[in-house]
Amino acid sequence: MKVKLITSLILTMISSQLVICQEKRVQEKWAIAIHGGAGSSASLTDEKKKVYEKHLLAALKIGTDMLASGESSLNAVQAVVVYLEDCPLFNAGKGAVLNIEGIHELDAAIMDGSNLKAGAIAGVRDIKNPIKTARLVMDSTQHVLLIGEGASAFAKSMGEEIVENSYFSTKERVEQINSIKKQKENPDPRGTVGCVALDSKGNLAAATSTGGMSGKKWGRVGDVPIIGAGTYANNNTVAVSGTGHGELWIRRVVAYDISALMEYKGLLLEQAAREVIFNKIDPMGGSGGGIIAVDKSGNISMVFNTQMMNRAWAKASGGYGVGILK
Ligand code: ASP
Repeated sequence: MKVKLITSLILTMISSQLVICQEKRVQEKWAIAIHGGAGSSASLTDEKKKVYEKHLLAALKIGTDMLASGESSLNAVQAVVVYLEDCPLFNAGKGAVLNIEGIHELDAAIMDGSNLKAGAIAGVRDIKNPIKTARLVMDSTQHVLLIGEGASAFAKSMGEEIVENSYFSTKERVEQINSIKKQKENPDPRGTVGCVALDSKGNLAAATSTGGMSGKKWGRVGDVPIIGAGTYANNNTVAVSGTGHGELWIRRVVAYDISALMEYKGLLLEQAAREVIFNKIDPMGGSGGGIIAVDKSGNISMVFNTQMMNRAWAKASGGYGVGILK
């Protein structure tokens, strides 16, 4: 009888140990995903692909180094997006697309999943790194979203770097707007940037930055700075950053919808992301797009309905990847 009891006690202890080990295995200490826009792959040569991958990996390294050394997900997503804003390949900061008047108007947002604080700016023409000003809106004002001249005046007052609008231009973006004006096809994939991360304290954060849609009307604001549409983070569920046809992302409240499907319907991250992209966005037509997301356990999802999405990811448990095509 005694032997039986001891044996069953030992078995119980071993099996509870196993459960703990299994939980540990799926609970990532940190995880990160990055996107650099989604769209058509028509103009993607092997050479271009290599250059995009190189910069996505460089951005990823900034984020992984920070998370591995215990930095917050909020600082990591911001630093990654700053790198991508400074890289002329992407449609954010330097390299942003032009609107139909030939002017750059930039949008950006950042969100802290630990307290649901968020900061965003929209339609700015002269702030070198919009994501840094979005962070300042979150940290140093009572507001969530500042626009246009008001946002620029705020950035200046906080010592942010102000540039001429022409700073954002590249030869490719000028050619792109000229061909749109001649009613030709938009030759390039878009290139909005975003980053989502889980840090070792279990905090989630999301950041997104963009020049918007090439050839847009002046004054048009996309999904990126609309919290819940293109950017969202909540420690109870997930951090999401989107890229795509912003009007659809706003109308479908894409990032929040993924979070809500997880919170209220109990869907797993991948199920929720696929439900929103393939069953809600797909039927609406438009030019589509995708999302990157990391949930509170460190699971990563990168779902898109376009031919390509520039993306990269890494997890504390090892493994990282970079991809562009399906
Ligand atoms: N979502 C962005 C916007 O509509 C564009 C993009 O992601 O390509 O402003």
